[in-house]
Amino acid sequence: MRSHYSIVIPLYNEEVNLPVLYQRLRSLMEAVPGQWEIVLIYDGSRDRTLECLRQLHQQDERICYLSFARNFGHQTAVTAGLNFARGDAVIVMDGDLQDPPELIPEMVKLWQQGYAVIYAQRTRRYQEGWFKRLTAYVFYRLLQQLADVEIPLDTGDFCLLDRQVVTVLNHMPERNRYVRGLRSWVGFRQIALPYERDPRYGGEIKYTFRKSLKLAITGLVSFSTVPLRISTYLGLFSAGLALVMAALVIYWRITSPESRLTGYAIIAAAVFFLGAVQLFSIGILGEYIGRIYEEVKQRPLYTLAEVAGFETVLPRTNGDKTPQHPA
Ligand code: UDP
Ligand code: MG
Repeated sequence: MRSHYSIVIPLYNEEVNLPVLYQRLRSLMEAVPGQWEIVLIYDGSRDRTLECLRQLHQQDERICYLSFARNFGHQTAVTAGLNFARGDAVIVMDGDLQDPPELIPEMVKLWQQGYAVIYAQRTRRYQEGWFKRLTAYVFYRLLQQLADVEIPLDTGDFCLLDRQVVTVLNHMPERNRYVRGLRSWVGFRQIALPYERDPRYGGEIKYTFRKSLKLAITGLVSFSTVPLRISTYLGLFSAGLALVMAALVIYWRITSPESRLTGYAIIAAAVFFLGAVQLFSIGILGEYIGRIYEEVKQRPLYTLAEVAGFETVLPRTNGDKTPQHPA
């Protein structure tokens, strides 16, 4: 049985990396028995990425691409790629060669042994700033503590997914997508593949601090309700503190009526403290309510300006591989 593989790659201003990525992938995939396609998602770049895509598609019909009408973000691009990919096994990777394509044959081997999700786990990161490494380190550990499902440490989106898993992911309606969390949530047989994360080949990092923070909050809020409870705990804590303060004030009033501590200072402290707790709690509520609102609006996840390369009918090897086009 010849298997069919899809490689899903979201691209945002990756014009410098694209030709090298294609060369490396091609020489690798030629060695893997079976058919393959590369699904590139153009996420509204500001450079010549789209022209590069069109050109590659002209050269090699195994290259299919989707072009978003604007920048929708990495997680949405991965989702769109999964929607359109037609392979029995779908590989998701970054377009900057930080995820070494040389890992794919190993993933394929594990897939053939019956694993449904093979996720690459970083053991080392090269040439990424200390701030990014530190925040990532703290975040993944915090998420593991708080999340309702076991989300493995230090794993990004680089993975191989069996068709069964892709079908389940495609049927998940949520808009705020934290793909690596959803991937853990679905279950099936999962296995980690350790690797050392290479430095970016060319171009600039696209995940600004703001985007990373947004992704981190989505991850936490989508997979944990513990933050909602934080406000309850904080409320209880501040109530306790207020009682202690009141007791102290009464005590000082009785023992030393002339004490200045009973004055404005304590009131000011109490007001500040309660104000902070309330703002914090409202903030947490806001995060969840904002997301509920997003889900309720039922907007499509992305808008497509151009789709190419999906016309060819691929030989079906097993199961239902009808591509889904929800947008
Ligand atoms: N990316 C994207 N849309 C965005 C930001 C990033 O499609 O809005 C893509 C980017 O082109 C790359 C991948 O997501 O293929 C990872 O981005 P980056 O290398 O900047 O992030 P990091 O490696 O630091 O996680
Ligand atoms: Mg990168």
